[in-house]
Amino acid sequence: MIAPIERTLAGLRAQTAIWRKAGETIGVVPTMGALHQGHLSLARAARKTCDRVIVTIFVNPKQFNNPDDLENYPRTEHDDARKLESTGVDLIYVPDADQIYPDGFATTVTVSGLTDMLCGATRPGHFDGVATVVPKLFLQSSADKAFFGEKDYQQLQIVRRLAKDLDIPIEVVGCPTIREEDGLAMSSRNLLLSDRSRVFAPILAEVMEDLRDQLLTGAAMTEVGAEARARIFAAGFNDIDYLELRDGTDLGLLNKTEPGARLFAAAWLAGVRLIDNIAV
Ligand code: AMP
Repeated sequence: MIAPIERTLAGLRAQTAIWRKAGETIGVVPTMGALHQGHLSLARAARKTCDRVIVTIFVNPKQFNNPDDLENYPRTEHDDARKLESTGVDLIYVPDADQIYPDGFATTVTVSGLTDMLCGATRPGHFDGVATVVPKLFLQSSADKAFFGEKDYQQLQIVRRLAKDLDIPIEVVGCPTIREEDGLAMSSRNLLLSDRSRVFAPILAEVMEDLRDQLLTGAAMTEVGAEARARIFAAGFNDIDYLELRDGTDLGLLNKTEPGARLFAAAWLAGVRLIDNIAV
């Protein structure tokens, strides 16, 4: 059965009040739609540990630093609702824009430190947009647990930080990155790749895995990073925003691997920005 779609905060609150009264726990899965198996894995993880599951679909204008990117972002609500059928979610919250940003909305949440590097360095304002909408979705849904993908690892760390800093009583659960068979991390943006670009896109993950293997033998990024970058360019990528080894918690830059380290990459392929990260 397709889960009911709710478009207003009042409607959402009426439903969650009933669940709360019955003593049921609530899990929320914030998304921007164009759902794929990565998103569905979050909904399934929520289903396993929460009595009720809400998937939110909101293409948040505040987190787009490029108007074309916002306009071109895939919107597939009908298909999304159908895809969610198999996960058994209870409610799909697709708020109208004014339910999130009513007239006069004037608050911005900024998380410092964690937002300075990686995607924060190349997408000004992006994480302010994320950090502003996510607590709203937490408070609107009154969820006990929220499920986020490691695919957007920096985002996951930022969300953990802000929930803690703002005393929002919610457990932030990180879930593993789901990949296509050829290793490409699933992403709504993959829909924007041409057939030709789609063939070369998995090389990013392949290069990262090889780089991880080199780092595990004790090699330093300063020794092996340049060759990895060259391989990414050779595969047809036009630009690399970053290819960096960082600590998995504070995201501090590393040259050699240590426990908890992760490799992070963002690169452009024919106008589409792909990001990925893996544990080292
Ligand atoms: P988005 O719709 O891109 O904002 O993503 C919504 C949520 O799905 C975020 O928590 C993402 O990290 C997560 N997500 C996106 N792609 C994947 C993936 N391939 N595997 C696991 N989670 C993902």
